[in-house]
Amino acid sequence: MTTTDLTPLLKIILPSPEQSILLQGTKITIKRDDSIHAIISGNKWRKIKFQLIDALEQKCPHIISFGGGFSNHLHALAYCCRQLNIKFTAIVRGDYSQNLSPMLQDLVSWQSDIRYVNKITYQARNSSYLHQLQIEFPQAVIIPEGGSSQYALEGVGEIVNELNQEYDFIIAPVASGGTLAGLINALGNKQLANKTKVLGIGVLKGQNYLEDLVTDLLPPDCHNKNWQINHDYHFGGYAKKTEELTQYCTDFNQQQQLDIEPIYSGKLFFAIQDLLHQKYFPKNSRILALHTGGLQGVRK
Ligand SMILES: *Cc1c(COP(=O)(O)O)cnc(C)c1O
Repeated sequence: MTTTDLTPLLKIILPSPEQSILLQGTKITIKRDDSIHAIISGNKWRKIKFQLIDALEQKCPHIISFGGGFSNHLHALAYCCRQLNIKFTAIVRGDYSQNLSPMLQDLVSWQSDIRYVNKITYQARNSSYLHQLQIEFPQAVIIPEGGSSQYALEGVGEIVNELNQEYDFIIAPVASGGTLAGLINALGNKQLANKTKVLGIGVLKGQNYLEDLVTDLLPPDCHNKNWQINHDYHFGGYAKKTEELTQYCTDFNQQQQLDIEPIYSGKLFFAIQDLLHQKYFPKNSRILALHTGGLQGVRK
């Protein structure tokens, strides 16, 4: 059976381009997943692609997922569901009903059903609250926060298939772990584990926690151990920033031919720049940074 190809339908442009820039005098290649679509944020497409194909093939009428008030995942998924005529329910952490973010305004315009829940309920999103939703909506497919499910691994793996050359390091931001797990798994499958180290930059305070998320997503037969998460660049936590980080993003956006934001890609590039400064990378390392998108999240 041939699987449904959603990319023409959604006008997603793949493969994403590779672009090189100089940081600290060192060439860094950037995989521009931020450029695959005007609305669907880069790595979120990779993570939900196979889930959406499966949902369509099963004629699933309704998708439910979780996220914060500025979530790139809810935004991408809501748009896809609208285009594909699937009902979408967004479970949002915190009550933004009197103060819609630009992301939530888009969801309203795409006729998503939005449910605001408190922190306690949100914390039970993978346990008791999930169970409650399964009973309330037996027809629905429920996708975890950030789209980080088993489906994510296959979709993110396509990034590795698209690469034009081999790299010594592939570096990506880490929040719910699906992107990193997909890269690790795909490199292992392609027998590239010994050649390419996957370096994650934690964008939230999550030492051990983030490693556990990634490990839990990896299939039991994945033997790629050549990966690590650096926790020195979370700047105080998820979506937290300092004057230094804000300034770094402003300067970067003026000097380079691409844009970054302080939640994910800003922390990624700040980290790479600092690690170059510390001489972390051996000389002549071939370094790839994955630009995961996310610029919608910083709209005012
Ligand atoms: C969600 C997101 C990430 C984090 O990816 P995970 O798979 O959740 O670790 C990184 N960058 C952007 C732009 C995102 O929206």
